[in-house]
Amino acid sequence: MYKVAILGGGVNGFANAVKIKEKFRDFEVVLISKDFSPYTTGDGSGGLWYPYLCGDKTPERILMRWGCETYRLLHKLWLEGGHNVSLVPMYYLHQRKETYRRPMWASHVFGYHELGPKELQYFSKRYSSQYVAGEMFTSFVSRPPTIISYLEKRFLELNGKIIHADITSLSDDILKDYDVLINCTGLGARTIVADKTVYPIRGQIARVKAPWLCEVVMDNDRENYILPNADFCVLGGTHQENDYNTHVYIVDSDMVINGCTDIIPSLKNAEVLSEWVGLRPGRNEVRLEAEERDNKLIIHNYGHGGSGLTLFWGCATDVLAILEDKLKQKVKKISKL
Ligand SMILES: Cc1cc2nc3c(=O)[nH]c(=O)nc-3n(C[C@H](O)[C@H](O)[C@H](O)COP(=O)(O)OP(=O)(O)OC[C@H]3O[C@@H](n4cnc5c(N)ncnc54)[C@H](O)[C@@H]3O)c2cc1C
Repeated sequence: MYKVAILGGGVNGFANAVKIKEKFRDFEVVLISKDFSPYTTGDGSGGLWYPYLCGDKTPERILMRWGCETYRLLHKLWLEGGHNVSLVPMYYLHQRKETYRRPMWASHVFGYHELGPKELQYFSKRYSSQYVAGEMFTSFVSRPPTIISYLEKRFLELNGKIIHADITSLSDDILKDYDVLINCTGLGARTIVADKTVYPIRGQIARVKAPWLCEVVMDNDRENYILPNADFCVLGGTHQENDYNTHVYIVDSDMVINGCTDIIPSLKNAEVLSEWVGLRPGRNEVRLEAEERDNKLIIHNYGHGGSGLTLFWGCATDVLAILEDKLKQKVKKISKL
């Protein structure tokens, strides 16, 4: 029986905890984190399924695999109902043709098509911008706290344990008895494993009441997006690299609210409920790999940038596969002795 500690109580930490505990029921699996829902980055995020700002070095076919598996989970939750997952039409519009490229995952989502001249003409009129390219498909928008609490419940039902602690490094005393550490600390990896290639991508959003909107619109050139979920509509958003400030900037409120209202003028009638700033764990490549240190197996799973809610389930499958493989290798080594 192995002792496994998952570090990080965000969407990735809980997804990994569920997959590992479901596979290895007799292992002691503990999730250790400094913050829990609703105070993780994922809780405040827009909850849209869309691979976005997740590093240009992560191979697209891998992103596709992680993303498509998560898309299938969201579809299942949507079919079940009660999980605050909405199925929504999504338009990604470009004012310059060269910024549009058909993504590899296009044939794996519902109804993907490149927008034709008539649709572009219509959207240019409707959203008061000159669009020359774009894509449309059906995506999912979730309320992230509901997804995290769904995963947490699944983990606790399997007798998973939760510990509240601030980790300073993988050599901390609290971790000494564990054979396996799964590092899902997002931006926290910058200190915990001194990975200076993970950096903050500051995102400021506004939440507004606009129940008449039920489609996602992203404008590639203005960097604005409109994401209606089951309870409110998220207007975004900035992506300022290496900015750690989590206070609301007035200038960004203006860019977010006025920028989105320029795209959808009816937003001028939407009541602003709140504004929020979060720090995406940016990295030029999602780090999902194993290493061995001090006789422990460590599997890193962090740096999901603006796509944690898009990739979490697929990434958790790969972490589980690495763990199973390493354990098999260990058994082989022992049986050879
Ligand atoms: C404005 C904004 C909008 C976004 N919109 C979307 C979207 O629409 N769709 C999408 O897919 N993604 C979106 N994201 C990105 C998404 O929020 C992240 O990719 C996601 O939160 C990453 O999840 P995670 O579990 O890896 O990290 P986090 O959510 O950051 O969780 C990390 C966990 O590790 C814990 N931790 C960190 N350091 C320590 C430590 N020293 N000791 C103990 N525990 C520690 C934290 O307490 C936390 O529980 C958005 C982000 C922002 C900021």
